[in-house]
Amino acid sequence: EAKKHLGQHFLHDQGIISMIVHAVDPKPGDRLVEIGPGQGAITFPLLDRHGELTVIEFDRDLIFPLSEGARAHGTLEVIHRDVLTVDFTSLANESRIRLVGNLPYNLSSPILFHALDHAAAIRDMHFMLQKEVVDRMAAGPGSKVYGRLSVMLQAYCQVIALFDVPPGAFRPPPKVDSAVVRMIPHAPDKIGIDDRALFARVVRDAFGQRRKTLRNALSQICEGVSIEAAGLRPDARAEQIEVADFVRLSNWLKANGSIEP
Ligand code: SAM
Repeated sequence: EAKKHLGQHFLHDQGIISMIVHAVDPKPGDRLVEIGPGQGAITFPLLDRHGELTVIEFDRDLIFPLSEGARAHGTLEVIHRDVLTVDFTSLANESRIRLVGNLPYNLSSPILFHALDHAAAIRDMHFMLQKEVVDRMAAGPGSKVYGRLSVMLQAYCQVIALFDVPPGAFRPPPKVDSAVVRMIPHAPDKIGIDDRALFARVVRDAFGQRRKTLRNALSQICEGVSIEAAGLRPDARAEQIEVADFVRLSNWLKANGSIEP
């Protein structure tokens, strides 16, 4: 019996499961960590390929079946916890971790932002999410769905939408289409954000009131300084600004602004 409040939709389509394993393509020595293994739909095939795996599952009723079921497939380490309380950095050994998961959709954004906090410990991520969320994550300036999620994720990671998955691939079927996305964190020295909290606030405020110009949307943060000086058109709107320009603007404000983030 699936638990709705835990976002449980179990994959049963073998074709989709193989496509996920193929997309992850584990290589010897990789440090694989799965979020929300559920009944093991992806877990056991990954174990067959890779031999060892760490999983993080919150539902106590699934812990024993997972450990028992894994015996025939390989070595499974089960962490019984809320993934949002797991320090991914502590899971990395000599290799950075590779995260995999058919995520609980009610927690998609918190899990993505939690992963960003640990981006330096993560080599890549393969997640199943609502297709609508994946579209927003991968969107570029000018797209209708380009927004805060696109800019925040793309500032830290390369985001690649891989393939769509219909509701019928799950039991019970979710109400929405799904998609698998790959994210590859940029090298720390490539990110170039001087103050992460300020960057997050600039992006949040810029998209907070979509129809406002950047000058108006950022009037609080930019009090006393002009956006033109940072090299941006003041009449531009957030949905036209490239990720790199948001980074440049927040760094410029850090250096020249008088605000406290
Ligand atoms: N991976 C399985 C599959 O593909 O069939 C299950 C996917 S299901 C969409 C999401 C899984 O995440 C469930 O097993 C659920 O119990 C688990 N989950 C929900 N909230 C969680 C949390 N906060 N921390 C860890 N796991 C969680």
